[in-house]
Amino acid sequence: MDSNRNDQNKNPNNGKKPKGNFFVALLITVVLILLINTVFNFVRNSQYNQTNLSHFLDAKENGQLTEVEIRFDRIVYMTKEEAAKPAAEQKAFYTGLPSGSDTYALAVELRDAGVTVNWPIVEDNSVVTMILTYVIMFGLLFAGMSLLTRRMGGDGIMGSIGASKAKVYMEKQTGITFKDVAGQDEAKESLQEIIDFLHNPQKYTDIGAKLPKGALLVGSPGTGKTLLAKAVAGEANVPFFSISGSDFVEMFVGVGASRVRNLFQQAAKVAPCIIFIDEIDAVGRSRDARYGGNTEQEQTLNQLLGEIDGFDSSKGIVCLAATNRPEILDKALLRPGRFDRRIVVDRPNLQGRLDTLKVHTRKIKLAEDVDLKKLAQATAGAVGADLANLVNEAALRAVRHGRQTVNQEDLLVSFETVIAGTEKKNTVLTDTEKRMVAYHEVGHALVAALEKHAQPVSKITIVPHTSGALGYTMQMPEEEKYLQTTQELLTELRTLVGGRAAEEVVFGVKTTGAANDIQRATALARNMIAQYGMSKELGLMAPATVQHQYLEGNAYLDCSQDTAALVDKEIQALLNTCYEDAKKLLTDNRALLDEIALYLLSKETITGDELMAFIRPAEEQTQEAPAPETEEQI
Ligand code: ADP
Ligand code: ZN
Repeated sequence: MDSNRNDQNKNPNNGKKPKGNFFVALLITVVLILLINTVFNFVRNSQYNQTNLSHFLDAKENGQLTEVEIRFDRIVYMTKEEAAKPAAEQKAFYTGLPSGSDTYALAVELRDAGVTVNWPIVEDNSVVTMILTYVIMFGLLFAGMSLLTRRMGGDGIMGSIGASKAKVYMEKQTGITFKDVAGQDEAKESLQEIIDFLHNPQKYTDIGAKLPKGALLVGSPGTGKTLLAKAVAGEANVPFFSISGSDFVEMFVGVGASRVRNLFQQAAKVAPCIIFIDEIDAVGRSRDARYGGNTEQEQTLNQLLGEIDGFDSSKGIVCLAATNRPEILDKALLRPGRFDRRIVVDRPNLQGRLDTLKVHTRKIKLAEDVDLKKLAQATAGAVGADLANLVNEAALRAVRHGRQTVNQEDLLVSFETVIAGTEKKNTVLTDTEKRMVAYHEVGHALVAALEKHAQPVSKITIVPHTSGALGYTMQMPEEEKYLQTTQELLTELRTLVGGRAAEEVVFGVKTTGAANDIQRATALARNMIAQYGMSKELGLMAPATVQHQYLEGNAYLDCSQDTAALVDKEIQALLNTCYEDAKKLLTDNRALLDEIALYLLSKETITGDELMAFIRPAEEQTQEAPAPETEEQI
């Protein structure tokens, strides 16, 4: 759905704290150097035994010394006993040197007693060397540590489980404006005020108005909610923070909450700005038990509510959130002063789809024969993301075919790829199967073509698609429709069962190929009975309630068992009637059915015009016997 979200990754300038990094690296370096020093001293000292001064004096008096080294702070000496041992086991002794002692006299005295005396030379530059060594060591270590801490994701080693690892993306400038968002005029209008406010908060505070803190963008996936939020940031020319609700949700209790805190802290630093929370339902789910709450999610949500209440909107932070399931959001989120504005982002209508196609073909070289309007007509129900995808597929196809421009065929084929799955060339059907598929599809097409209220057929094909369909009949509405009458729905039902009817009329068999048709017909019939009030028995009663209006729109039955049984019975009766009607229609027009099926078999794909070329002459002959006009007899 979302081809654009990834490019946020190209901008990893996500509020890293270089200063924090510096101090962490410094600290680690100092600790390491101290450690190295200690270890070094330990190793050096392990060759010596520390003794007390008496031990030295005793050894001296007893003539036990063989060798003595007088250093500035200590005397290191070797006894005869030790010197007799094998070299590996030998250990020298050392003891402190009393301050003020005359070391030169001591040296002379020892020499006279036959002891080898050593007086190490302190090089002039040895202090300098030592300091230099430390500096170089420090430099190298520090460089290494800085690199390492940067690798760890900007939080240092310490922070790797902690606060800011959530994928907060900040874009200084989104570069997207309302021009890039096709259609959605109502949503744009509602967002205009927010832009104005980001431009000039003063104007609002002067008059004493409370500034809006947030708005909720509601709509199906791919309708352009993220795009709109980015466009708001682009129009207002402010930075754009985005995070997905699911990024807050973590295994560790408290992590989500600290991420929320972190996000708002970062935003406050660069205000005015937009914070965009995608899929807010992941954190904002209602806390009551119906949808199964958990502590972590509740904590995160509480933190979010706190932050939204807490920030000073006069600074110019606006929080936008997107969801396709507004009904499960916690009521607290929707209270005044929080996400109290709801902006609906609808599926585009014909004009909207045309505009979307225009936006996405702006940078694409189009051939002369391209007719975007036709494409827009064919793509009823598609969302912006589908259309963007479609255009891109078309461009890829043009490249594959070695062409310089994208033509209408590319667009139409890509439409089939995106909507119906790619054409599957290598499914081999037997001749009998092919005949059956052809009759099945012509069954649909013929019922549609002979009926008054049907949408015109635009294409029939028996080329199998990867989606599993062995063929399909495409109908294209002449204009956008928002209302459907009972007759139109009945026609649709008859068209849907027309495939199976043809199988039975021609071959006297039933095939599995009709499974999808039957499912769709059943769903439609159920809606007519249980939702649209088109049932004879139930009248205006609607026993079904729709859930998730912005997703698939599943309805569940909300009635007594008796009513449910009645609904099922009515659905069955309705489908049977339609099926009988379709069979009758096809039996009456058997010659036409054979003729078109044969033609389809030879061509594999035929257009709506080719189909009508068969039907019109036939209709003129049978003027006196029009297709059965069924009244609303459900
Ligand atoms: P959502 O957030 O609603 O799931 P997105 O905003 O991520 O949808 O949309 C995905 C892509 O679809 C966008 O990047 C854009 O290319 C395309 N798109 C969606 N709606 C529109 C529109 N109204 N105009 C132009 N492009 C659109
Ligand atoms: Zn079918």
